Amino acid sequence: MKEAHRKRILVTGGAGFLGSHLCERLVMQGHDVLCVDNFYTGTKDNIAHLLDSTNFELMRHDVTFPLYVEVDEIYNLACPASPVHYQHDPVQTTKTSVHGAINMLGLAKRVGARIFQASTSEVYGDARIHPQPEDYWGHVNPIGPRSCYDEGKRCAETLFVDYRRQHGLSIKIARIFNTYGPRMHPSDGRVVSNFVMQALAGVPITVYGEGLQTRSFCYVDDMIDAFIRLMNTPDEVTGPINLGNPQELSMLEIAQRIVALTGSSSEIVFKPLPTDDPWHRKPDISRALDVLNWRPTTSLDEGLRRTAQYFRQLVQQRDSLTAAHALHSGR
Ligand code: NAD
Ligand code: UDP
Ligand code: UDP
Repeated sequence: MKEAHRKRILVTGGAGFLGSHLCERLVMQGHDVLCVDNFYTGTKDNIAHLLDSTNFELMRHDVTFPLYVEVDEIYNLACPASPVHYQHDPVQTTKTSVHGAINMLGLAKRVGARIFQASTSEVYGDARIHPQPEDYWGHVNPIGPRSCYDEGKRCAETLFVDYRRQHGLSIKIARIFNTYGPRMHPSDGRVVSNFVMQALAGVPITVYGEGLQTRSFCYVDDMIDAFIRLMNTPDEVTGPINLGNPQELSMLEIAQRIVALTGSSSEIVFKPLPTDDPWHRKPDISRALDVLNWRPTTSLDEGLRRTAQYFRQLVQQRDSLTAAHALHSGR
């Protein structure tokens, strides 16, 4: 890459699922990437393959504390995304979204960096409009178990637009809908990782409620394309822009797809629906199509195949490590 095009890019939450794919893509493009993560839900394994690259640097840091570095662009992804994880320490979740946003915006303001916010379809809550366009204000419970995440992300959006209005920052807000793929944490509780891990282990697939609630699933590679396209739009493009795959499925349908695709013998069992679980979710992506000329291209079957392949390898690696350990310790 020519020196003039090479940027210093900070990715917060860079050791997580989406962050690690983003770091990888930016490193491959030749940028200098600084990955900042406190390893709350992310792992070093996710970015281990990048550590030898001279244009990649890893820093353990919690974004709720100030950060002084010199960069040209910031992708702010730090925040647990799985309901199980973000509800584990809800106060920390809100702090990460809100204090983390303030610190990263303060940093962007000081160094004049462009800043991208990983917002979420959760800002629409249990939506009353379907599919959800960006001008829908949402239907969010401010005091429920999901509020720490939903309201934290909504407040972060407010901070982003106010830093733009008040300080003229160049901001990009992406409202990300359910995304899946390799490097999701195998036990992070999200539906695709749960179902694939259960299918591979041949244990029951846990569908919550009657499984008639819907989500729209986007494969990670498509999502990373959209992040980079959005970051590289002119200053007047601020978002929010919905990013996701509009193909909508019920949880029962996705369970059946995964069982068939993995050739699993797992049965489907039904468990209670979590409180405030949104009923339907599907992005209206006309703005992304218009502004970014982007739409997802990976089919669900192809994406699920690659994801299952990743988890299969992970399980095999763990099994052989356990076997080696047992052999070593004489058991
Ligand atoms: P993830 O949990 O895999 O990654 C989040 C990363 O942030 C982890 O590496 C974690 O250790 C790190 N982190 C958490 N708190 C931190 C803190 N205080 N300081 C520094 N690092 C911290 O989740 P993901 O799926 O990769 O999501 C990334 C971002 O995208 C999140 O902001 C999430 O809200 C957003 N998002 C994701 C989805 C999705 O479906 N994957 C959907 C909507 C929005
Ligand atoms: N901040 C940071 N890195 C920087 C500059 C600022 O982490 O390079 C933090 C700083 O600690 C502050 C926050 O960002 O709490 C907001 O900064 P801003 O300049 O907007 O506000 P102020 O410092 O005036 O409170
Ligand atoms: N879900 C499920 N079984 C699981 C995990 C999740 O049926 O083992 C459901 C969950 O109730 C929700 C949907 O799958 O309706 C998506 O859940 P996820 O936690 O992946 O993300 P959400 O979109 O709710 O943030």
